[in-house]
Amino acid sequence: MNYLKTFEKLKVGTQLIDNRIVMGSMHTGLEDDLSNINQLTEYFVERAKSGVGIIITGGYSPNRLGRLTPFAGTFNSQKIAIAHKTLTAQVHAAGPSKILLQLLHAGRYSYHPFSVSASRIKSPITPFTPFALPGWMVKSTINDFVKSSLLAQQAGYNGVEIMGSEGYFIHQFFSPRTNKRSDEWGGSLENRCRLGVEIIQQIREKVGPDFILAFRIPILDLLTDGSSWDDIAYYAKKIQAAGANLLNSGIGWHESRVPTIGSMVPHAAFSSVTKDLKMVVDIPVIASNRFNEPEQIEKALSESCADMISMARPFLADPAFVEKARNNKSLQINPCIACNQACLDHIFSQKRASCLVNPTACEEKKWTLTKTMDSKKIAVVGAGVAGLNAALVLLKKGHQVSIYEAGSEVGGQFQLAGLIPGKKDYLKSLLHWSSEIKRLGGIIHFNTKIQEAHELQNYDHVIISTGVKPRIPQIPGLDLSHVITYEKLLKANTFSGKNIVIIGAGGIAVDVATYLLHRSAKIDTSIPDFYKHWGIETKLAGGLKKISRIETDLNITLLQRSDRSLGKGLGKTTGWIHRLDLKKHGVKFINQIEYKKITSEFIEIQTRKGDIQRLPADLVIVCAGQESQKDLVSKLEETKKPYSLIGGAHHAGELDAKKAIKDAFEVSFKI
Ligand code: NAP
Ligand code: SF4
Repeated sequence: MNYLKTFEKLKVGTQLIDNRIVMGSMHTGLEDDLSNINQLTEYFVERAKSGVGIIITGGYSPNRLGRLTPFAGTFNSQKIAIAHKTLTAQVHAAGPSKILLQLLHAGRYSYHPFSVSASRIKSPITPFTPFALPGWMVKSTINDFVKSSLLAQQAGYNGVEIMGSEGYFIHQFFSPRTNKRSDEWGGSLENRCRLGVEIIQQIREKVGPDFILAFRIPILDLLTDGSSWDDIAYYAKKIQAAGANLLNSGIGWHESRVPTIGSMVPHAAFSSVTKDLKMVVDIPVIASNRFNEPEQIEKALSESCADMISMARPFLADPAFVEKARNNKSLQINPCIACNQACLDHIFSQKRASCLVNPTACEEKKWTLTKTMDSKKIAVVGAGVAGLNAALVLLKKGHQVSIYEAGSEVGGQFQLAGLIPGKKDYLKSLLHWSSEIKRLGGIIHFNTKIQEAHELQNYDHVIISTGVKPRIPQIPGLDLSHVITYEKLLKANTFSGKNIVIIGAGGIAVDVATYLLHRSAKIDTSIPDFYKHWGIETKLAGGLKKISRIETDLNITLLQRSDRSLGKGLGKTTGWIHRLDLKKHGVKFINQIEYKKITSEFIEIQTRKGDIQRLPADLVIVCAGQESQKDLVSKLEETKKPYSLIGGAHHAGELDAKKAIKDAFEVSFKI
């Protein structure tokens, strides 16, 4: 497929943009300290080389009060602007990309005790109650936005994006739910629009006509008391008239209890709302959220949903996304699976962002691949995520690689994860990795179980990536026919039973419960089903109808011996979605129990208080973690064959794909 629309040029203000792809703002953690400027530059240059139309940096606050955390980055001094000059110069030297600096004032989402907002109303997701900003300080904050924009211009940026959505400061002034003021900055719609409008107007006056002024406008609050479409359309027109020349789509508030970027959100789920925005303004508009393939971008552009498409995480997953799309090599793109595990989960834990499928992200220099002068014959035993990624790195280094897989397909645990609703992209990763291995000359031998060391005698080195098998606990009755492992359940692709008990309440147990509920309700991953499931109605003010309970035929209970919470290992930014979904379906969770026995009718447990309870169970699913499979290790040791043990075979406890892939990269880089 040729992506003709995607690679059409576009005029934004007086600037000509090379193509329709935006690398959206993504905080990496490198912004917060000037000493990281070289690493940040390498990160952007790597993406600019592939020719993305516009790059937008992570958010910088225009002043100290607006910082997200006490040590987050500000853009408010000559020293900072000078340091960024090299960054913008190197980005411009790398290709045609324009680069915009994002200015983000967090308002009441600031994680420090001096946060400010339109009114003194605490957000449900931060511990600090903000101070209501007095009128004179609203004016000085506008001046700070203007000053930062001028500094960005001096630093060589082609423009700025003003973050006006997602529930941050400017959005807090626009929304009547957080703005209860009675002065010129609150009350009427006109007054609530004033902050955003004044910021744009005053920046435009100072920066002149050639500087791109993008505004991220809230087009769908996903809150039951959010803004009406009429108010949003009015705001968009005012922002355009004030001098903005690009509008980006802001979806949801951070406090919305509807997923907006998680893997269960269908691709391009909100582009119809951007299409509505496009109808009310004359400047280009950008659609965003859950685009990760060139085909989706081309489709949304062809359907006139937007003039540009923004993606943030897919550029962590693959810096060369644009170049591969331009050359019609979309299968070579390493797809972002929307897991958040190494990007947003890191950021929300004050760690530098990386990427589960590309551990080199944000550490580009450290992981520069060089061809080996000593090409080896290497056998990789096991084609799960660890084995596949090890093989890829080794092939890129110039080794000869053969992979031996006992089963008939690649992927191991990741293949199973791909069967969970909303995780279909995991299967695309597997398709990408295996086709890359083939393209680079690697060979995968399926249905070949290596059992003895002599079978590997022709190799110089062996990678053991034989993965894990489900742990089978010792509970009387576990051998009954209605007791199955999660692996067996998912592979069978069907189940029967209404009273279902899950042994274990970790990440996989939560995934399995979601799988059962969605299968039983026949929900697929289409946009209409997703909207219905979460109560999204774009014509309602706020775009949301309250759904507190979802009916299901299933009676599901998750059990756990320890006092850990439900789905403890789940990600910081996605765990709440899974827990909320299970809660709405009435799924029960009992921890601090002891298993007594399983019969054909029930499972007997002893609770923390010492009571004996019998839970009716016509299906029992074992999700009790995993154990390593590493029988080959001792055999290779006997023959003194050099080997490396990676992924689940190395360490099964709380192993996930992030650790497995990182392991694969670290080991293979050294061979
Ligand atoms: P897990 O999160 O470690 O949970 C294992 C569960 O099994 C626990 O609830 C544990 O509770 C129970 N268990 C362990 N030994 C048992 C025994 N002998 N008898 C009965 N119960 C036992 O492991 P997982 O659910 O298999 O997930 C594997 C990894 O994948 C984890 O790191 C997980 O976070 C990750 N994962 C992540 C996602 C995601 O979306 N981010 C999704 C799925 C999985 P007790 O020992 O207290 O009973
Ligand atoms: Fe995408 Fe996951 Fe990588 Fe984040 S960590 S960029 S969500 S694949």
